[in-house]
Amino acid sequence: MPETEMRETRVALPAHAIEVGTAPLDGPARNSLGGHPFLDAGQDWPTCFCGERLALFFQLDVPPDIAHFGGDHLLVFHCRAHNEATDATYEGGALVPRYWEAPQDPYPGPFWRVLLQRGADRPTEECEPSVRAKRLMLRPYAETPSARGLGRQDFKVGGTPSWAQDPEGHTCACGAELEYLCQVPEDMEFEVHPGLPEQPYSVGADTYNMFLGNEVYLLACPGHCDPAAVWPVNQN
Ligand SMILES: [Zn+2]
Ligand SMILES: [Zn+2]
Repeated sequence: MPETEMRETRVALPAHAIEVGTAPLDGPARNSLGGHPFLDAGQDWPTCFCGERLALFFQLDVPPDIAHFGGDHLLVFHCRAHNEATDATYEGGALVPRYWEAPQDPYPGPFWRVLLQRGADRPTEECEPSVRAKRLMLRPYAETPSARGLGRQDFKVGGTPSWAQDPEGHTCACGAELEYLCQVPEDMEFEVHPGLPEQPYSVGADTYNMFLGNEVYLLACPGHCDPAAVWPVNQN
């Protein structure tokens, strides 16, 4: 990385560590693992290409001090039965139009959906049936990147990604450069209710993971060209 760029990235940015509550969550909460998704009116619970409803892994209100996305409601869904790493498809120097619906080799469509909702004031009646509902707490901290321009390896929103490999940027189909929003650490396991079908490639019978347990960096469109205009970068 050029030296000038490195200096720029050493600025402390507002970050919020995402902490998972220990007690089971009873009823809707805006910041949760599992639970009742808060979706915009007219936004259906997303489904996988296989027809199964996607599991709500987590959702949270993006704090107001986070650039571009403060005040948005972020929801991360992923299929129980399909588990792979993401593979970005490009066309003419940008992600393909409606890249959130593009085929994901070997699958004919994506097995996840990440949404940024701006009018999500009401929870769905139905609760996420597999991922155990827990409350999420956001704890603000100022994150000063390392000399290499890297942030902490944390479950966090905002701050600076900790990039397991080289920093990765993507251009939205609308032409905007996607901006980093949220990071899920490598091998994070999400507890599920007992007796459910096991997820392929997850570590435990009673947990699911996302994207084969890769570290996940959510890059989103600052132009909000579509609620699903978010690309989950996977690295390990
Ligand atoms: Zn599926
Ligand atoms: Zn866009």
